Amino acid sequence: MVNVLSSDRLISGATRVVGILGDPVAHSRSPAMHNAAFAALGLDWVYVPFPVAATDVSAAVAAVRALGLAGVNVTVPHKQAVLAHCDALTPLARRVGAVNTIVNRGGRLLGDNTDVHGFAQTLRAARLRLRGRHAVVIGAGGAARAVLAALGAAGAARITLANRTAARARALAARRWCAPVRVAALAALADPATLADAALVVNTTSAALDGGDFPAVAYAATPAGCLFVDLLYGHPTAFLAGARRARRRAEDGGAMLLHQGARAFTLWTGRRAPLEVMRGAV
Ligand code: NDP
Repeated sequence: MVNVLSSDRLISGATRVVGILGDPVAHSRSPAMHNAAFAALGLDWVYVPFPVAATDVSAAVAAVRALGLAGVNVTVPHKQAVLAHCDALTPLARRVGAVNTIVNRGGRLLGDNTDVHGFAQTLRAARLRLRGRHAVVIGAGGAARAVLAALGAAGAARITLANRTAARARALAARRWCAPVRVAALAALADPATLADAALVVNTTSAALDGGDFPAVAYAATPAGCLFVDLLYGHPTAFLAGARRARRRAEDGGAMLLHQGARAFTLWTGRRAPLEVMRGAV
């Protein structure tokens, strides 16, 4: 998506800069979403994509401080790596073990996690009642951590966590969550018994970004009301296509993007986020 600053939104000497650190970042809709919000509120701010390789995470976070950026979002695959480079963490970011938003408070970088709120809003918008139910999470990276926290808060009774790298899933399951987390192999997703009572199946992997094959999933074994969510947005994915073929509700990560972004916007600017403007830009 091309973003054009209109002539009345030129960069000035006082423009505040925020952005997104990730690899890749070219697919991100966050620049469009935030720049539309700044324009709507007449704020002299700009949001810029910063492609950052894993070896440069430390230098990139130091640059936020050195260049006086007002803050940044952090995306795949750096949400856990940036943790060690923040000066302080909110209790939520510490509990989740992942940071997706850094706020620069006078040179002190505070790491926060607005993905938890973003995913909680996704569940709320879908009117999914999770209390006492089983949820299945695929993937064990930074985004999965936020999803696990939101599922616990929504009252899920148990969670199955399936990941390509079993050790990563085991390490994640061992953290303290509000619901018991059982680790399964990706191959277990093809077993109808794994999904037979699932109220929700969430794909948090970046497999579609990698161009990797998606594992087989017993979509039709889920209850008819089961909701499938893929955190990726703006891409048709094999996961959502499979769910739709089985006539299940299927949603991408657009709502999560919107709500995590709105909360980050407020943390940086102190202003209420113009949700409808941001939704339109996404
Ligand atoms: P991470 O790099 O931290 O984790 C990636 C995960 O994907 C790991 O579990 C990894 O498994 C798994 N994975 C990668 N490639 C494959 C593959 N080919 N087959 C199976 N599993 C694979 O990324 P994040 O958790 O930060 O982000 C994950 C996804 O969620 C991204 O697509 C991102 O865009 C999206 N996202 C969307 C948000 C939104 O607002 N809508 C918010 C946050 C994230 P392994 O451990 O084996 O490497």
